[in-house]
Amino acid sequence: MPITYTIALLVIVFLGTYFYSKYICKQELKEFVDSFLDSQQSITVVYNKNSLKLINRTGLEFFGYNSLESLLASHSDIVDFFIEEDGCISKYTYGKNWVESIYNDKTNRNNTVKVKIFSKRDELEHYFYIKISKMKDNKEYLLTFNDITKLEKDKVNIKKLAELDPLTQIYNRVKLSEMFRGIFFNAKKYNTIVTIILFDIDHFKQINDNYGHNVGDKVLRELSSLVRSLLREEDIFARWGGEEFVIVLEGVSLQETKKLASHLREEIEKFPFDIVEHITCSFGVTQFTQSDTESLFFERVDKALYEAKERGRNRVVVKEAK
Ligand code: GH3
Ligand code: MG
Ligand code: MG
Repeated sequence: MPITYTIALLVIVFLGTYFYSKYICKQELKEFVDSFLDSQQSITVVYNKNSLKLINRTGLEFFGYNSLESLLASHSDIVDFFIEEDGCISKYTYGKNWVESIYNDKTNRNNTVKVKIFSKRDELEHYFYIKISKMKDNKEYLLTFNDITKLEKDKVNIKKLAELDPLTQIYNRVKLSEMFRGIFFNAKKYNTIVTIILFDIDHFKQINDNYGHNVGDKVLRELSSLVRSLLREEDIFARWGGEEFVIVLEGVSLQETKKLASHLREEIEKFPFDIVEHITCSFGVTQFTQSDTESLFFERVDKALYEAKERGRNRVVVKEAK
């Protein structure tokens, strides 16, 4: 009897220890992990292989859910929320097993990707770097989200400052030169058609003298937005300096470029500008040829514009290479 009793006691202790370590300890550990993740200010997510297992409170609030179950009831994965954009990953970039694929991607040594996600919390789009790390048991992955929205916005603003003319918000001369280098290269190598329009406001000095510099500035802004609205998105439009503007076209014949310049001339002449009411512009047009250098090309269009001024302004002059 005592032996049976002892054996029974040992079995109970053994089973008790086993169940405690297997379930109760695990439960305690899970609660600890949950509260640790919830204490994180940034979105933190745990994946088991490729299925979403845990998401902290910050993450749930960001995606607009109050539990992981309700999130999983409407979406199989958070990758569904990633918005497609250049430089960001979406659900199509790595496919269904994106977490493992990124982790195993030899070309991505930091295991970090950029994503863009709409937040239900503040109704704004956010950018994040997601860092994927493997947890000790080799099956689970920890994803930490680092909000880089401000950094991305600053990057866009700095780019704008460097590329755009502050008054007219069209490309400045620096950006034009940079873009022109690529165009020039293609024209030389692949013989692509490149044409240019250079135009200048007629008697602009009188506008400044008669109405003041601020009105002059307003004319420059109105003219830029009028011309921009009459061009295709791919046409390069830049402020050359002062009241001179440049349009560079690829794949448009000289004849068609002349037509476009004439159309712009007419539209500018008709347009009801604020205060000054009417202005006119003179236009020079030319086409790039294989024997051109960049400076020969610009000199020729400059000569065409000069001729348009000489011949009485408000007209288009085309100059072909000799
Ligand atoms: P033309 O028909 O021969 O082109 O005569 P114009 O008076 O337009 O030419 P001119 O080159 O003599 O004068 C250009 C004027 O443009 C002089 C300059 O003060 C003015 N200007 C240049 N940049 C700006 C600007 O950013 N804002 C304003 N308001 N005026 C500018
Ligand atoms: Mg002028
Ligand atoms: Mg001028």
